[in-house]
Amino acid sequence: MTRRPFIAGNWKMNKTVAEALALAREVRNAVSQVRERVEVAIAPPFTALHPVAKVLEDSNVALAAQNCHASESGAFTGEVSAPMLKELGVTWVILGHSERRQFFGETDAGVNRKVAAVLKAGLKPIVCVGETLEEREAGKTLTVVETQLKGALQGFSAAEGAGFVVAYEPVWAIGTGKTATSRQAQEVHAHLRALLAGVWNQETAAQVRIQYGGSVKADNAAELLGQADIDGALVGGASLKANDFAAIVKAAP
Ligand code: PEP
Repeated sequence: MTRRPFIAGNWKMNKTVAEALALAREVRNAVSQVRERVEVAIAPPFTALHPVAKVLEDSNVALAAQNCHASESGAFTGEVSAPMLKELGVTWVILGHSERRQFFGETDAGVNRKVAAVLKAGLKPIVCVGETLEEREAGKTLTVVETQLKGALQGFSAAEGAGFVVAYEPVWAIGTGKTATSRQAQEVHAHLRALLAGVWNQETAAQVRIQYGGSVKADNAAELLGQADIDGALVGGASLKANDFAAIVKAAP
């Protein structure tokens, strides 16, 4: 089973609307030749989604959001719902990012409810899992990602699951310049795929794309993306420069 590589850029809380428009235009132009081979998405902050959607029209770059609320509407001051994102032209929603877990108290059960909301709105989830340095050093990496993955994905059918993307992001490698070695990453990715086969079945597990995230850069992307179970990258810092991001996209096999 060949899985189409998927590279997504998470801009986090960066870029004004004017800056986001300029970067989105640069990214669109820089990756226009990889249309068939690699799937590409960018996740600007909420404030820039609508204007950036216009820049990405008729391009091969999809629009992603960095979070959403689990409810469709209601008294949730400061939140944004999945149907609201759909209306703006969003395709993907990043859920359970470690910064959301760390700074906003997000839990596996909460991520599970958000996945349901995303699917109901006709959007697609990128579900993030990953261990802290303390958990890795205690030898708990595989059990931590297992709990996160099963907690986030429980209750969804294999047919729904085939369209999910999972992102393995070791917390100690996010924004730190420390990257998991390709061997460390591949070990976890293979484990995640085996877990997906247990949650659903082999066929579905073979279809789900598992991105790696954590200080991915142009110079380490090819090695990571060359691993059997690494099907793409979720890129933070390096997605804020069009040339750096495009180089990662082009490094996909
Ligand atoms: C991320 O936040 O998803 C991420 C992987 O960040 P960085 O590439 O900056 O480590």
